[in-house]
Amino acid sequence: CASGVPMSRFEPQQHIDYTPLRNNINVVRDRLKQPLTLSEKVVYGHLEDARSQELERGRSYLRLRPDRVAMQDATAQMAMLQFISSGLARVAVPSTIHCDHLIEAQLGGEEDLQRAKDINKEVYNFLATAAKKYGVGFWKPGSGIIHQIILENYAYPGVLLIGTDSHTPNGGGLGGVCIGVGGADAVDVMANIPWELKCPKVIGVKLTGELSGWSSPKDVILKVAGILTVKGGTGAIVEYHGPGVDSISCTGMATICNMGAEIGATTSIFPYNHRMRDYLVKTGREGIAELAEKNKEYLVPDADCHYDQLIEINLGELKPMINGPFTPDLAHDVADVGATAERNGWPTDIRVGLIGSCTNSSYEDMGRAASVARQALSHGLKARAAFTVTPGSEQIRATIERDGYAQVLRDIGGVVLANACGPCIGQWDRKDVKKGEKNTIVTSYNRNFTGRNDANPATHAFVTSPEIVTALTIAGSLKFNPETDFLTAADGKKFKLTPPNGDELPAKGFDPGMDTYQEPPPDGQTVRVDVSPESQRLQLLEPFNKWDGKDLADMLVLIKVKGKCTTDHISAAGPWLKYRGHLDNISNNLLIGAVNTENGKVNLVTNQLTGSTGAVPDTAREYKKSGVKWVVVMCLCVC
Ligand code: SF4
Repeated sequence: CASGVPMSRFEPQQHIDYTPLRNNINVVRDRLKQPLTLSEKVVYGHLEDARSQELERGRSYLRLRPDRVAMQDATAQMAMLQFISSGLARVAVPSTIHCDHLIEAQLGGEEDLQRAKDINKEVYNFLATAAKKYGVGFWKPGSGIIHQIILENYAYPGVLLIGTDSHTPNGGGLGGVCIGVGGADAVDVMANIPWELKCPKVIGVKLTGELSGWSSPKDVILKVAGILTVKGGTGAIVEYHGPGVDSISCTGMATICNMGAEIGATTSIFPYNHRMRDYLVKTGREGIAELAEKNKEYLVPDADCHYDQLIEINLGELKPMINGPFTPDLAHDVADVGATAERNGWPTDIRVGLIGSCTNSSYEDMGRAASVARQALSHGLKARAAFTVTPGSEQIRATIERDGYAQVLRDIGGVVLANACGPCIGQWDRKDVKKGEKNTIVTSYNRNFTGRNDANPATHAFVTSPEIVTALTIAGSLKFNPETDFLTAADGKKFKLTPPNGDELPAKGFDPGMDTYQEPPPDGQTVRVDVSPESQRLQLLEPFNKWDGKDLADMLVLIKVKGKCTTDHISAAGPWLKYRGHLDNISNNLLIGAVNTENGKVNLVTNQLTGSTGAVPDTAREYKKSGVKWVVVMCLCVC
């Protein structure tokens, strides 16, 4: 029976129930007769049929029952349009929508938020009313980034959550299996259809030693990305374990899991421990912490469980790292990156430093960045490069304002942006460089693919921890190593930064800030959802013809994609985000960033009917007009 402990403070009627998880794990244990990894426990714990489901890692397809669904505002549009076309009255599992992707960074938090509300009024209104009608929790623009809000409110040990965003694995920092999916998968689950997942392999990362000095949780994943590369996690869950785990805060574990998306992993996870308990308690979820303690044996891996691959990292030996440019697996020690940049002709002057995002905007992250900034200020210094700060949520923004961190970051020259994705997803009205101008930026984000942040293919973006971003931005150069190098104070004296420190959690508790949540009414039947037929942003869907039972055949290859193909290559973000609710308009960005194997060119393919060349979306439309079916061949890197 259910525990009586609510899944979240917003859903007092929905209780966590570990009973099916426990029962399923016991059934599977009996069947497999071997110790289980934590990933297996949580995944198999959500099997629809644990008794007869075939279970072979890397081969079987599992039918699962996720506990909840989360959607960000760009992908939620299509998901809700699909849900509407299902004809169902209400979603079957607790679900939420988060308005975070459509806010462009231009001037600063409040102005940018107001501008976004005006520009996106139609879309926000659609999402808010659709959420009300179909029983979905709605987080308004300004509330924060989906993954931070999930961590603060919805993730819990042992949860199986799917989210329509690649960095949903962030919730693994609280011991959940949280997986990024497409909108159609979310619709299946909201419509009470079992969700299919290829039984993941499990890569173990054993952590020993303890983090110290300038090293941080971000360095763990930057190191892992360097080892496994952008493809190394494909089809696998990365499971961290070992004695080093306890030296990492819960939000630090979330950072590590978040960026697991960059190695193509299905998701990443940490075992339940006292750091998670502390975070649950500080975020008002003592009941969940108590329940997790009682069920702990199901929320940690069995001793001697088998991993398909095992990596070992001694945290005590881990040096501060910085990865890039153009790919998150090009790993360097911070100590070496300046020399490497000079050798490769990458600009070493830093133009902008950006901290925050869903990856690194915890209270601890902001505290460590502020600790570096405070040292510079006490020597009369400001940041040499431009500097931006993106709080991950309204709660983080309000708390770092109250505790003075935001002001310190402003005092060195920082601009605090809206609680949203902003420059992380190309929503950045960048003015300091022209398109095509070679330049370097450093961020505490997770991705640095070409053009990701500012649509400038000549921007060399490096990802690192917020404290290293802050130190490098103060120095203004990639050649600066905060562990060994000196800065010159305003009075001409030399000084060295000391390693940063920041409280894991706020001593005075979190300040929730403004109330940005819209609760769905118990019955949304009378709520009206408006979609104008003239809209350029939203388009109701027309159902596909029923399948005639025949497989598709005799199709033309529209494009065979060369090399790495991510969601960014398939459907670019930035200015295109505004068309995510309009199938016809968004189709104009189909694979425009992908390289054609045939000619090595981007967005240029041969029309097999006419022999002429053209853009990928145009050629697809020509085929459609001629009634010809087509197919795309690619090796998808799900990151
Ligand atoms: Fe995605 Fe960046 Fe937003 Fe995180 S902050 S959800 S990585 S766009």
